[in-house]
Amino acid sequence: MSNRTIDALPISVRNVTKTYGPVHALNDVSLEVRSGEFLTLLGPSGSGKTTLLMVLAGFTRPDCGSLKFGDREVIRTPPHLRDVGMTFQSYALFPHMTVAGNVAYPLKLRKVPKAEITERVEAALETVQLGGFGDRRIDQLSGGQRQRVAVARAIVFEPRILLMDEPLSALDKKLRDQMQIELRHLHEKLGMTTVYVTHDQREALTMSDRIAVVNHGRIMQLATPRDLYDRPANRFVADFIGESTFFPVSRSGSDILFDGSPLLYDVPPPDTKNLMLMVRPERVILSPEGPREGTNNFTARATDVVYQGDSFLLHAALASGAGQIVLRGAMRGANVMTLPNVGDALTLSLAPEDTVLIDGSDK
Ligand code: ADP
Ligand code: MG
Repeated sequence: MSNRTIDALPISVRNVTKTYGPVHALNDVSLEVRSGEFLTLLGPSGSGKTTLLMVLAGFTRPDCGSLKFGDREVIRTPPHLRDVGMTFQSYALFPHMTVAGNVAYPLKLRKVPKAEITERVEAALETVQLGGFGDRRIDQLSGGQRQRVAVARAIVFEPRILLMDEPLSALDKKLRDQMQIELRHLHEKLGMTTVYVTHDQREALTMSDRIAVVNHGRIMQLATPRDLYDRPANRFVADFIGESTFFPVSRSGSDILFDGSPLLYDVPPPDTKNLMLMVRPERVILSPEGPREGTNNFTARATDVVYQGDSFLLHAALASGAGQIVLRGAMRGANVMTLPNVGDALTLSLAPEDTVLIDGSDK
């Protein structure tokens, strides 16, 4: 690729709806992607991720709504005039063509002169670390190499927007981890506005500047990985990202009561009738010396202790009968010596900053 930096474009999606018969694949979706941002659409299968990407690329025309790249309305612009590179959920490579033939395709479509095509194809292959692979046939390549060819084909014409639909889902875990870092570096190098699709929460957390959590054709929350994890907007997001346990709480005046006591918390709770306490297992602390000042303390009894190599998982029944709390601890230092046994009486603590109150509705 040339060294000129791409002049990235912001994307603005407004009130986009797409129905297939009774199915709302997209239900009034609005989304702003910042210029040069790496934004991930994260959601379960069937939530509308591919449909949204196809709308951005121009292969699917929505029922209504507007789509802008920069200041330009593009909803009626055909795909090849949108300045968008895309990798599809299946690689969608031409199996009978060589690697170079596949990567050259978008340039031929755009009537780029032949000499320039050869040069740009090789540069794109270098970028995805497949320099010298041009003459190979697609069916001679591994899954990871095919995926790189698909990426090279998507970036060869230096689009200002790059769309990737579950590019790594067919790869085994080790290669996937490696490719995540590579794609992230590629984005840092090229700087194009990128919309990435995955159903894998860890992948989304690893790669993204921001994540839009999608469910039933709607965006549930758009936030940085950190904010999504620490401050999920509702139970769906909290459940989909990371592990957590939920407990109903009650209000008494200005207090929020759980386990018989007012909770200490840092961030004011959302205004909802269905308020719940969300507890992430790795945020719960085992307090062998008893209750800690300035934290929420719970009396409990260990019901299950699971050793998992690098960490342990402890299930404990709250003495008040309010339910089961789950704690994850690292297997190091004092923990190795003092792992509780089933039946032990325990004090569990939760710091105010880790005491997260959320809207418990599963929207
Ligand atoms: P995801 O990529 O998140 O798995 P999709 O965008 O592919 O989800 O699909 C969203 C919903 O729209 C699903 O219920 C799917 O069955 C439906 N859908 C998508 N494309 C079509 C189509 N061409 N015809 C009919 N239904 C479709
Ligand atoms: Mg899909």
